[in-house]
Amino acid sequence: MSADAGAKDAQASRSRIAVAVDGPAGSGKSSVSRAAARELGFEYQDTGAAYRALAWRAVASGVDPNDVDAVIGLLGGFDYEIGVDPDDYFVRIGGEPVTEAIRDPAVSAVVSAIARVPRVREHLTGLFRERIAHGSRPGIITEGRDITTVVAPDANVRVLLTASAEARQARRAAELESPSAEAVGKQLAARDAQDLKVVDFMTAAPGVVTLDSTNLNFDETVAALVSLIRP
Ligand code: C5P
Repeated sequence: MSADAGAKDAQASRSRIAVAVDGPAGSGKSSVSRAAARELGFEYQDTGAAYRALAWRAVASGVDPNDVDAVIGLLGGFDYEIGVDPDDYFVRIGGEPVTEAIRDPAVSAVVSAIARVPRVREHLTGLFRERIAHGSRPGIITEGRDITTVVAPDANVRVLLTASAEARQARRAAELESPSAEAVGKQLAARDAQDLKVVDFMTAAPGVVTLDSTNLNFDETVAALVSLIRP
């Protein structure tokens, strides 16, 4: 890159708007963040997909998710790619598409164990920050569990997206084909309980705006998020 292009890139990075969205499983943060990014012409970064991709690697290679050293070993050559264009979302590992495979219940069941390894969190946090700093669009919405507090505490806009346990359970059950709402509710509650041991994503940190979507439909929630970013 020439000095001139480098300077332009640095300037673009400085004026790029960073939005951080956290929330529990089933709060709708992925679909809401993606739709808001589309409306704003921003990029969209799904950080849960990176933890899921690593968990998928553990399952695919027979690594015990509770064996910390083996999990850390998976980071070597973790060739992970994610689409940040809200209209072209994909996840690939080593060039192989795993967009659907990382949503498999077998992956969801082990992802919390993978995500509690500090070395994993540090590594992925570095990747997420790179994405936030560099990109071609005027802004990026990054969503996850620790974005407002750890990954991007200096983001221009920080939002905690919440919804009552009942609303979250009903939304997740509606997304899936058949499992009973009760089974879905149990899975979500168990994953949230595991994840809460690592990061508190149920309480807004100082300066973080809480957006409660319990009584809002999807479009209303997207509009509320967009108006926080573009008042
Ligand atoms: O957002 P999603 O439900 O796909 O996230 C999958 C898992 O990844 C979470 O249950 C959590 O264990 C982990 N995660 C995390 N920190 C993030 C995003 C996700 O620990 N920022």
